Amino acid sequence: MPKHAVVLLSGGMDSCVCAALAARDHEAAALHISYGQRTEARELQSFHAICDRLRIRTRMAVRNEVLKAIGGSALTDENIAVPESRTLGHGIPVTYVPFRNAHFLSAAVSWAEVLGATKIYIGAVEQDSSGYPDCRPAYYEAFNRVIGAGTREGKIEVVTPLISMRKAEIVRLGLELGAPLDLTWSCYSREDRACGVCDSCTLRLRAFQDAGAIDPLPYAALTEVV
Ligand SMILES: [Zn+2]
Repeated sequence: MPKHAVVLLSGGMDSCVCAALAARDHEAAALHISYGQRTEARELQSFHAICDRLRIRTRMAVRNEVLKAIGGSALTDENIAVPESRTLGHGIPVTYVPFRNAHFLSAAVSWAEVLGATKIYIGAVEQDSSGYPDCRPAYYEAFNRVIGAGTREGKIEVVTPLISMRKAEIVRLGLELGAPLDLTWSCYSREDRACGVCDSCTLRLRAFQDAGAIDPLPYAALTEVV
């Protein structure tokens, strides 16, 4: 019997492909954390649908109240608009949620200790991404040192199988693995149809186009993909 591995599954494309990898190689335990983001209901729906399709039975969906209370991000503060894609590539965007991934990883490490899991999968991507500082390899290397120093046995490791992949490669890998990309949700601003113009929609549409594949999601407007 393969050992448990915890996978952080937001419901987006990258985390879905990451979960498909984790489920292929381990008894996956999926963790979803809502944090008061605009599309939290839609993402939670995607989380359960993806788990069902990947046959991940061990799952936990919890809520982090801290990030919304602190705000400071377009995803958690209604007064900060979600920008359109023209802002991509100009520093750290306002959709960055301050130190969010540390909250998520900390919860995943706690759960991994209890489950006896030694790996935590996270679908962080450095290239082709929005430029968030908590998606850099150095951050995960440092986090692993924190885990080593701060857990009972010190044997849990965060793995980032997608971190150096291009987004189009992630689409191709997802298709190869049979990852349920049709059940994912990436849009930052809408829950009915994807907006097609936020950073996340733009990166996703470009990835499918570069992979020569059709994005199965419904879009309200198609951004100009360059
Ligand atoms: Zn969008």
